[in-house]
Amino acid sequence: MPKQTPMMKQYLEIKEKHTDSILFFRLGDFYEMFLDDAIIASRELEITLTSRGGKDKKDHTPMCGIPFHSADAYIAKLVEKGFKVAICEQVEDPSEAIGIVKREVIRVVTPGTIIDNKALDDKNNNYLSSIYFDKKTKGLGISYVDISTGELYTTEIILGDSELSSVLIDEIAKVKPTELIVNSDLLEQGQVVDDIKKKFNILVNSYPNWAYEYGLSEENIKRQFTVLNLKGLDLADKKHATISTGSLLEYLNETQKIALSHINSINVYSLENYMVLDISTRRNLELVETMRDKSKKGSLLNILDKTSTSMGARLLKRWVQEPLVDKEKIVKRHNIIEHFLENLILMNDVSDLLKNINDIDRLISKVTYGNCNGRDFISLKQSISRLTELKELLINSGNKELAFIGERLDPLTDIYNLIDSSIVDEPPISIKEGHIIKSDYNEALSELKEASVKGKEWLADLEHKERTNTNIKNLKVKYNKVFGYFIEVSKSNFSLVPDYFIRKQTLANAERYVTEELKVMEEKILGSHDKMMSMEYSIFLDIRDKIKNDIERIQKTSKLIANIDVINSLSKVSYENNYIKPNMNTDGIIDIKNGRHPVVEKVLDNEQFVPNDTLLDTDSNRLAVITGPNMAGKSTYMRQVALITLMSQIGCFVPADSADISVVDRIFTRIGATDDLSQGQSTFMVEMNEVSNILNNSTKNSLIVLDEIGRGTSTYDGLSIAWAVTEYISDKSMIGAKTLFATHYHELTELENKLDGVKNYKVVVHEKESGSITFLRKIVRGEADRSYGIEVAKLAGVRKEVIDRACEILEDLEERDEHKETRVTIRSHEPVRNIPLTQVETNIKLPRAKLIEKETLEENQTPLELLAKGDQSYGSVQLIDKPDKSMETIEENIGDYKESIQVLDEFKEIIDKLKSLDMITLTPLDTMNILYELQTKVKKIKD
Ligand code: ATP
Repeated sequence: MPKQTPMMKQYLEIKEKHTDSILFFRLGDFYEMFLDDAIIASRELEITLTSRGGKDKKDHTPMCGIPFHSADAYIAKLVEKGFKVAICEQVEDPSEAIGIVKREVIRVVTPGTIIDNKALDDKNNNYLSSIYFDKKTKGLGISYVDISTGELYTTEIILGDSELSSVLIDEIAKVKPTELIVNSDLLEQGQVVDDIKKKFNILVNSYPNWAYEYGLSEENIKRQFTVLNLKGLDLADKKHATISTGSLLEYLNETQKIALSHINSINVYSLENYMVLDISTRRNLELVETMRDKSKKGSLLNILDKTSTSMGARLLKRWVQEPLVDKEKIVKRHNIIEHFLENLILMNDVSDLLKNINDIDRLISKVTYGNCNGRDFISLKQSISRLTELKELLINSGNKELAFIGERLDPLTDIYNLIDSSIVDEPPISIKEGHIIKSDYNEALSELKEASVKGKEWLADLEHKERTNTNIKNLKVKYNKVFGYFIEVSKSNFSLVPDYFIRKQTLANAERYVTEELKVMEEKILGSHDKMMSMEYSIFLDIRDKIKNDIERIQKTSKLIANIDVINSLSKVSYENNYIKPNMNTDGIIDIKNGRHPVVEKVLDNEQFVPNDTLLDTDSNRLAVITGPNMAGKSTYMRQVALITLMSQIGCFVPADSADISVVDRIFTRIGATDDLSQGQSTFMVEMNEVSNILNNSTKNSLIVLDEIGRGTSTYDGLSIAWAVTEYISDKSMIGAKTLFATHYHELTELENKLDGVKNYKVVVHEKESGSITFLRKIVRGEADRSYGIEVAKLAGVRKEVIDRACEILEDLEERDEHKETRVTIRSHEPVRNIPLTQVETNIKLPRAKLIEKETLEENQTPLELLAKGDQSYGSVQLIDKPDKSMETIEENIGDYKESIQVLDEFKEIIDKLKSLDMITLTPLDTMNILYELQTKVKKIKD
């Protein structure tokens, strides 16, 4: 136990209240850390660990420290590593303190509450989120705030059964908070919170139940937004959103310990107002970062981001993540872009004006925190200097929407004038050392400044006078911080120094002196200097308060600027990349002519991007089965359709020659393996989870992209699942969503003839006589004949020996596959039921045989009739019109036939099992177990 000096006692008392933080304890010019905090901090910050206390080892207290002026960088480093830092300051003047100086924690810095600009990315928000889950009502409140910009959002959702995890994870994937506060009901919901921690690597705080009480939440909200009730905030009937917001404010009160006046409005939103995008779709479509290295480069956002301001960049990210579903709102955005493209000079002029605007939102939060300086005000002044011009430009733009924004834009002329008249053009960083306020801003200050100038003149006169008196030509009057003003005489002139010079300091080549006269004047000059500095400081604080009072006005203008910036950016991108205005419909039709992938078209080096058409509707073109070789461009094509649809709903123009786009409620994608592998889920399990999510949540207004399903398991299992999923999705009475399905299971192309609304497409390749292939990247109607996997492997540079051997194996496998068929041939003169054909030939080829249903068998049926029935239902029996040759063939083949009937019986059992499954309620784990059981049975069946 450390020795209890009064200081250490004070430390321990404060530390006890901040056990989950590293305590930065201010001692003079240092922040010191002790005990475990010191051990952690020295390790994480790579600073020396020392100790405090006497020689007695027992009293040794580990400690480490950092200079207070460089604390920001150290705090940022700790917070980035997921720690909280409690900053404890001396809150009274040490010279006035009786006993130990009073200390208090003035702020706790956490990942979600850091405001240091150097630690923040200006194109990204930094959100702190609070989640409230009520297990009784199944209601969820989600709120998040960026205290560096003052934005606060909240929503509430009443959940259906077992939706909690997916709804929460999808929303968190969108918001990407750096810190989360959760209540105990949520913590009790099994894995959810752990999954969030793992998936997003964020700090999660569990907050006590009292912080989630409705009354307290309501009070916190009323106080923060200075309202009498919650009606005006649109929270009156939203208990869950109220509580999540209230607890968020409670946490801010507790950690920030000041009134955050820049958080002055709540954006209450509803999930239904936006296109629903689940976590894997956001990732698969690479909306804001790439799948591979999580970088912005290569994402859709990167292509669309031509914003000029940080506020615009952050808002664009939001737009990309929240495509709209209201056709009118979407078209409004399109119309502005159209206007800009018809008026390119306007588009460029607006962009040029926006380029002068700095990060107003973050400047404003510095005003709230009181850590802004003169330079911040000059930056604000520059930012608002061209707003009058921007306003005029928008009002006279000739576009109703732009004019409307222009009219609401407050040019903040008074704030401009205030800063312009008061703050010098190049102020210093410090606000306490003067040189910050223009002298003519304040009369008293101006007088002081005059006195100071006079003082300087007097010093020059004195220098001149003493030079004449003493005849010392190089005598100088100088100043330094330690000795103040003095007269300096070089060594060679010592003999000329008069008696009234009082020696102060001896240097190697000179002596320094003062005189009585100089002392008196020094007092006057320095006194006025100190006064000047403190007067400038108080004037600065006064200006800061004036600006603080106008925060709301400034923020409103900043929001409008962000909106113009985003739409201007989308216009510039649309112009530069030849995008066109999509026509939006609500008839369920997606009809794209010569569509392109917005990202891939920009990264192709030598190749030209090949555009493709798309037609999906609610009728005969609901589901496109796309086959084609590996590397042909299937994934690119499907993502392109999803991205064009999404871009159009963001409000952007799209890469195509023409596009008629139906507003979709959700886009689902099931593409490739995901990084959940590292979180203990198998590829197949992840895939089935995603499939299950699609089946449970898609509607006829959704767009589904399936890039191969069922690949992670045995061929027949995979094919069966893919087949069943296709049937279910394409069935209008079940889902009937618009779907693109790329597959290497060529069997699925049979569905075009069997299911309503399914169409086959293939990617064309050109096969040369040599056997090598060229990718033409063109999507046309029809089905591909082969996969060309080995050819692609060859192109990828796989060794020739391996390629040759693969060709041999392929041939062998294909031959074996042929023999696997259970072939039954029955010939007869008798008509089979009413079908006047003479020959029936069946191909009971796995897995088609599985598809013969038990119900179609009638007890008194002859084998012949059974097969005919099979034909009628499934087309797995082919009727061939050939004259009969001999009856003996029947006897010969009937033995084979009986054997195959036995096989059929075994399959019937499996089919019954499959049929009884309720795919909607089955969990992925159940599916896996049942599949395993069925597969074992299938394996036992005689070949
Ligand atoms: P696999 O079946 O192996 O997943 P795939 O058919 O999905 O392959 P993609 O990944 O879509 O193939 O495309 C392979 C590459 O082909 C892309 O990386 C891209 O460079 C190029 N490509 C795709 N589509 C086009 C196109 N329309 N025009 C030009 N190049 C394209």
